[in-house]
Amino acid sequence: MNPMYDEQNVAGARKYVQEVYETVVNRNPHEREFHQAVKEIFDSLVPILAKVPEYRQLGILERISEPERLITFRVPWVDDSGKVQVNRGFRVQFNSALGPYKGGLRFHPSVNASIIKFLGFEQIFKNSLTGQSIGGGKGGSDFDPKGKSDGEIMRFAQSFMTELYKYVGPDLDVPAGDIGVGAREIGFMFGQYKRIRGGYEAGVFTGKGIGYGGSLARKEATGYGTVYFVDEMLQSKGLSFDGAKVVVSGSGNVAIYAIQKATQFGGKVVACSDSDGFVYDEHGIRFETVQRLKEVERKRISEYVKEHPHAIYVEGCEKIWSIPCDIALPCATQNEIDEKAAKLLVANGVKAVGEGANMPSTLEAIDVFHNAGVLFAPAKAANAGGVAVSALEMSQNSMRFSWRFHEVDDKLREIMKNIYKDSIQAAEEFGYPNNLVVGSNIAGFRKVADAMIAHGII
Ligand code: NDP
Repeated sequence: MNPMYDEQNVAGARKYVQEVYETVVNRNPHEREFHQAVKEIFDSLVPILAKVPEYRQLGILERISEPERLITFRVPWVDDSGKVQVNRGFRVQFNSALGPYKGGLRFHPSVNASIIKFLGFEQIFKNSLTGQSIGGGKGGSDFDPKGKSDGEIMRFAQSFMTELYKYVGPDLDVPAGDIGVGAREIGFMFGQYKRIRGGYEAGVFTGKGIGYGGSLARKEATGYGTVYFVDEMLQSKGLSFDGAKVVVSGSGNVAIYAIQKATQFGGKVVACSDSDGFVYDEHGIRFETVQRLKEVERKRISEYVKEHPHAIYVEGCEKIWSIPCDIALPCATQNEIDEKAAKLLVANGVKAVGEGANMPSTLEAIDVFHNAGVLFAPAKAANAGGVAVSALEMSQNSMRFSWRFHEVDDKLREIMKNIYKDSIQAAEEFGYPNNLVVGSNIAGFRKVADAMIAHGII
């Protein structure tokens, strides 16, 4: 009998998953987001744990859910009025089985150990899916860049890096951007790292400016990659972006380039948002306006309606999911689609959901989508394009050579196609056809677990 279908093995795998999950919850009390991420992944690994008992015997889940290292540190800096401010910095070095730790830095007041650990845990499997040699990490601070002057951002970034530099390096741990960390912040942090290290180690950061070691198409990669992935998913069912009504939440790095690519693919993006509210433009959101307002002028999305008076601005970003659409691309933050929002999307006829942000749908929302037969592209597969191009940036830095935009973009598209193929095949192989949550988790897990076994109990 195929051991996969042995009921005893399945029951044993379920029990193992539950026991380790309880240990994680007890060991990390009150870390709601971290528990949620672990639960989502663990539950979907039951079929492979049933098939490969070695993973249980060698304590893979116990080890993979405990970070190799969690660093927290004080970040003191002086604001423009001369007042001393203190923030908290984090870096989780979660798993290095496949390569140096890799994952972004988030600057947002909500940042705490739970958020950083959920992001770092997800990153392990996402990075594995890209097929590149990168481990999983994440970091950040509860610093709020919003409304700060360039001088304040620089002083904060320099103080942050003065501590973090001890723990990162091109072959050790390679940070990048995330919420609140874009080219400006990375420039300041890279500058401080260079100054302290006394050498030009371009590969220590990704998402750098093009003029000093950055990769073309890195800025666009997460948003484009999400649309490439969703396009693969749609095509498998004979659907496409062409003529579809699309809602994109957020108006940051991921959202901006998801809007651009979805529009290029023939979709009509009718809404986008920031944390204060959303804009609805029945003629289609103008990518150029959003890009300039957010990237250059650093203004709020409400300004959009001043330039496009036919558009409507609505206070409260969560209401964006009440807009009827064919394709929803949540590109803002975690848990922005709860069960209620998911039900509303389904009632309004949504056909596909692609997660550009990390964990934007709650577990209950994912169940709603699956039960309604909505095509669902989970974050760790759909938004892996950013880190994939980060790995390409590392390769270019090592080679001291730069690819052209279309060369990176072509590689990105190929990577997203492969992630889709690997995920859908794993879903099929383990008896969950079309379930990309199960498929991507198993496909990402398998490579990491096998490398961990090869390295011994460490
Ligand atoms: P940005 O800081 O560029 O943009 C974030 C956007 O989301 C802004 O519009 C912001 O609005 C909104 N937002 C942030 N927090 C909240 C909140 N609590 N409630 C409502 N809206 C919120 O970040 P990115 O675009 O880089 O990241 C967006 C998501 O994508 C995150 O989940 C991130 O982890 C994920 N991601 C990013 C990658 C990248 O390459 N950048 C790679 C893979 C995943 P406001 O300006 O008002 O704060």
